Amino acid sequence: MSAQNDRQQVETFRRHREDEDMDEAKGSGMSKRPKLAVYLAAPRGFCAGVDRAVKIVELALEKWGAPVYVRHEIVHNRFVVDRLRALGAVFVESLDDCPDDRPVVFSAHGVPKSVPAAARRRNMVFVDATCPLVSKVHIEAERHHKNGLQMIMVGHAGHPETVGTMGQLPEGEVLLVESPADVAGLQVRDPGRLAYITQTTLSVDDTGEIVAALRARFPQISGPHKEDICYATTNRQAAVKAIAGRVEALLVIGAPNSSNSRRLVEVGKAAGCGYAQLVQNAAEIDWRALDGARSVGITAGASAPEVLVTEVLEAFRARYDTALQVVETAREDIEFKVPRVLREAGVG
Ligand code: SF4
Repeated sequence: MSAQNDRQQVETFRRHREDEDMDEAKGSGMSKRPKLAVYLAAPRGFCAGVDRAVKIVELALEKWGAPVYVRHEIVHNRFVVDRLRALGAVFVESLDDCPDDRPVVFSAHGVPKSVPAAARRRNMVFVDATCPLVSKVHIEAERHHKNGLQMIMVGHAGHPETVGTMGQLPEGEVLLVESPADVAGLQVRDPGRLAYITQTTLSVDDTGEIVAALRARFPQISGPHKEDICYATTNRQAAVKAIAGRVEALLVIGAPNSSNSRRLVEVGKAAGCGYAQLVQNAAEIDWRALDGARSVGITAGASAPEVLVTEVLEAFRARYDTALQVVETAREDIEFKVPRVLREAGVG
């Protein structure tokens, strides 16, 4: 999908340049625009978990009609949420805000166990859009807990994924750390019986430091083979690192509450790009900050659709004489199936 998007973006650029060359030849003055090299990161944008979650809401609307309730933003992107809202999805923050007789979808970030339990008690129809890679972390946490290990989670306090993952175990069973300094302050039951898990959308490098601090303080701690950071987060950060050193500015398309998008801004800066901006769409670009730049990098967080990338590229094309180069560091072909209840309906 991403390779196809890349081909489309390059083709559109090529066509526009040809049109502009013709305009220039006709003396329209288009050539006065400053030149700008645009490096487009690949992979970028929608991951398999986000794609699946969006499909789940669309299929639920097809199967049951509107309204379908969605607990929390299905993915952290206003454009996606607004589109689904227009189709009949109703976004709420709590199950208490959903009527008993309408279906409810749980977001890709995952939910504490208490949420499906409450839905069952109320005989509600619910579909869990938790990304399978987040569910995998939930299962890990339960397995360690059953084996008598105390859990430590590396994550961001209050992020829905962290709340959902910690909520797989009884209250107080998971200790949260956000930094190496937190590791130093941990008070654990038994230093010899610990395991750690991580949020899936963290910075690979920062998490490596926290895990190193955990291993240094608790050498016997169990953990995943690598961190639980997912393939999509890892690939998008690697692609940003590949362009950060060669551009004067980096634009990350994503929402302010999107963890993986915010990490892309940080990774870009850490990898040597002096200026990195998080924008939700073209209207948010701070053009003054880009004044004088001759190269920019563009990427998108895992919850940002390609249509927003196209919009941003077009905004650049309107102001600059642009040359586009796709920098591909990985190919992704992962797809996750939607839950059976929607497949069986013959709509998926
Ligand atoms: S970012 Fe990773 S964990 Fe989150 S939805 Fe996408 S694939 Fe799943």
